Formats: sequence, structure tokens, C-alpha cells
Amino acid sequence: MIKIYNTLTRKKESFESIEKNKVLMYVCGPTVYDYLHIGNARPYVVFDTVRRYLEYLGYEVKYVQNFTDIDDKIINRANNENKNYAEIAEKFIAEALKDEKNLNIKETLHPRATLVLDEMIDLISGLIEKDFAYEIDGTVYFDTSKAKNYGKLANKNIEDLISGNRIVEDKNKKNPSDFVLWKPYKPGEPKWNSPWGFGRPGWHTECCAMVKKYLGDTIDIHAGGEDLIFPHHENEIAQSEAYTGKKFVNYWMHNGFINVNSEKMSKSKNNFFTIREIGKKFSYEALRFFILSVHYRSPINFSDEQLESAKVALERIKTCLENINFLLEKNSLKSNDSESDLCDKCDDYVKLFKENMNDDFNTAGAIGVIFDFVKFININLENKNLEFVLYAKKKLLELCGVLGLEFDLRKNDLDSEIKDLIDQRDLAKKNKDWISADRIRNKLFDMGIVLEDTKNGTRWFYKRK
Ligand code: AMP
Ligand code: ZN
Repeated sequence: MIKIYNTLTRKKESFESIEKNKVLMYVCGPTVYDYLHIGNARPYVVFDTVRRYLEYLGYEVKYVQNFTDIDDKIINRANNENKNYAEIAEKFIAEALKDEKNLNIKETLHPRATLVLDEMIDLISGLIEKDFAYEIDGTVYFDTSKAKNYGKLANKNIEDLISGNRIVEDKNKKNPSDFVLWKPYKPGEPKWNSPWGFGRPGWHTECCAMVKKYLGDTIDIHAGGEDLIFPHHENEIAQSEAYTGKKFVNYWMHNGFINVNSEKMSKSKNNFFTIREIGKKFSYEALRFFILSVHYRSPINFSDEQLESAKVALERIKTCLENINFLLEKNSLKSNDSESDLCDKCDDYVKLFKENMNDDFNTAGAIGVIFDFVKFININLENKNLEFVLYAKKKLLELCGVLGLEFDLRKNDLDSEIKDLIDQRDLAKKNKDWISADRIRNKLFDMGIVLEDTKNGTRWFYKRK
């Protein structure tokens, strides 16, 4: 049974989906006005892993993550560069999709704000009809005094919330915490027609409209970074529950920040590193691993050293898999049923891995189990037991796959040129022709192949950067 820490109740709760074996999941996506930084990568990687684990357990997960393609930051950039806002959004959506692929994020439904305008206008109209919203001079506000328990997600009273957050002062608001659902057109901004004149929707309405359109009135999991708890998610709850009269979300999940010198990594503080910058410097796999090596709710302090150690740690898993592949290629393994308890031991590691993941997706603990498993495999490869080696390989790949780590191991079938050269070198060595053997080794090295002589024969690897 999975336990999830629910921000709404501030407790770990047993997870029960609305519909058996199905999960409806929504994750707030980025505002597309620039390249994504590794802070943005955290919710991507964390919630993709939550999804993968749920799927591993047999759930069918319907996963939606939006792109906010209309926002002040996009408009400002477009105006500065003398471009249309849509050009900016289009460019950075394409770039975000490249980052997603590199981080091995599973494909998903990515609605965009500008494509749910009708749904947003319907929602706002409905809120006005139900007297939860009011219009003044082309601006529509949500009346927070009418919402049931406004502030319940952030768990603070309204005065504290207002003083701790930059709430725009506006003399037309009935209450200081009221928020804008529709803003009137200003020159230099894109505009859409609505019952309240030309203008554009506020950000908080976008996710409500998308959740309703693609997933339904009540969903299982809604997630994002912890900066979204207030006001964004609080305001989503207020609008959706006012509109539908139903509970909006059963489990709210929020990831902690990636910090730099204990400050949140963000564009505005200019203390960010882009996903591609770090991916190229260390590897995208190492970035994914680094994010998962800490529990998703804890803050992470970014440093080059941590990325470097993530890379080294990954090498240990890869080496284990390469050792396995080498033994399999050499056909040096024997079937031996009497050692089936080794396979049972593999299952024990799988069980431990699941126990960690069931405990609020403790990926840090799960990774620890993978390393213990790797150690166990390495020790027992000596036994040369075919069933065990095959089973251990399958299980190790399975667990790594749940974390979205699918290794780019050396190709299974040897390139014929490489194979010929290795054979020629083996022959040269047999003939004690060390000069030729070294020449071939150097030639292979130039081709990106590293050789290792072992008692079982010559092993080779692709040179790692
Ligand atoms: P934004 O485009 O700023 O709305 O961010 C997109 C997603 O990235 C949201 O879920 C944010 O909470 C999350 N996010 C932004 N910066 C960080 C950070 N430094 N650490 C963790 N998550 C972040
Ligand atoms: Zn959202």
C-alpha cells in the first residue's frame, strides 16, 4: 500500500484511487519564456517517477502537464525582442520538449493555456453566475470571502498569507486576497474576446479548466513545486470547488526547491543553470539521478560535486550490468537449479525497493537498495549461475527503469570491425607479438573502445567522457 504525504492534510495517507487501478494526475508545468533550469527539472523528474512507479504497480495513469503559454513574462520578452508572444512560447515549448526527452520524461498530454480559452471563459462565467466572482471595469475577480475554508491548503489564515506574499493592491477588490480571473486588454498585449470585453485570463484559471477538461471534476493527484501552494494551488481549489461543488483533488504533492547557496534557484535571482548546460557537462542521466537521490520534499543544494558523485554512482550500476553482459556473451555460465535461493534473494531486494517507494516515494532509500543489490550481484557473479545472472539482470534493469534510468550500455552485438580487431589482438598476444597487440589496442582506443584483459578473455567498453 502506497502512502503519500498530502499537503492538504499535512499527513502521510494511504493512497486509494477514485477508480480502481486508474490514477488521474495533473502536474503544473512551466511558463515558456526561456530555457528550463534544473529547478524546473525537479518536478518533471520527481512526478514522472511517481507516474512510473504507479504504472509499475499496475495502475493506468492519465497524466497531464500544461504549458503556460500566455503570461506577463512571455509578453515582456516578446515586446523586448519585437516578436509576437506566440513565437516566444512556440520556441520555448519546442526547447522544453527536447529537455523532457533528454531527461527521459515519459510522453504525456501537454495542453496549452491558449487552447483552453473557451473552457476558461465558461468557468469564469459560471463563477459569476454562482456569485463567487464579480466584474468591475472589465476585470473579473474571485471573491475569496465566499470560498469554503480559503487558505486550507496553505494552512494559514488569510492575513498571514497576504502579508507573506506579494498581493497586488487594487482598490476595486472586495477583499485583499481576491484574485483576478480575467484582466482587460492593455495595448501591446494579446487579447481574446469575452463577455467582459477584450482581455486575457489569469493564470490560476488555466489549470482548473485543463483539469476539468482532460481529467474531470475530482482527480487523484495534483502536483507541482512548493512555491505553487500559495496562491496558485489555493486559488485552483477555491475556483474549482466553487464551480463544481465537489472536492477538487484527493492528494496534493509538492516538491522542495533546488537551491543555490540556500536560495531558491530561479530566473529572477539569476542563480540558475539550464537543464541542457548541466546535461551536457555531466550527463542527463546524472542530472536525473541527482534529483532522485534526495527525497522529493527535502531541499537540495546544488553543487558540481554532487553532480560529479551522481555520475560516479551511476557508473557502479553500469559496470555491474556490463559485467553481467560480458559473462552472458562469453557463454561461461552454467545452469544450476540448486542455487535458486540466489533468485529469491533478488526478490528480497525488489521487495525492499518497493517498501521505500511505497513510503511517500522515497527514491533516496530506493536508490540505496539498488546499490546494495549491485553489491550482492557483484559478489555472486563468481558463482557463474546462469539462472541467477539472467534474473539479477532483469530485476536490476526493472528497478532502474522505475526510476527512469535506462542505460546506454555498449551495444550488444559487436561491430564487426571492432570484433575483428579484438580477435587479431588476441591472436597477436597468443603469439607474444606485443608490438602488434599494443598497436591494435591503440587503434581501438582512437575508435573510442577501451580494452580490459581478464582471466575470462578480453573485455571492451566504450570510452566514457
Ligand atoms: P515556473 O515556470 O516558475 O512556474 O516553474 C515550473 C515548475 O518548476 C513549478 O512546479 C515550480 O514550482 C518548479 N520550480 C521552479 N523553480 C524551482 C526550484 N528552484 N526548485 C524546485 N522546483 C522549482
Ligand atoms: Zn497550475
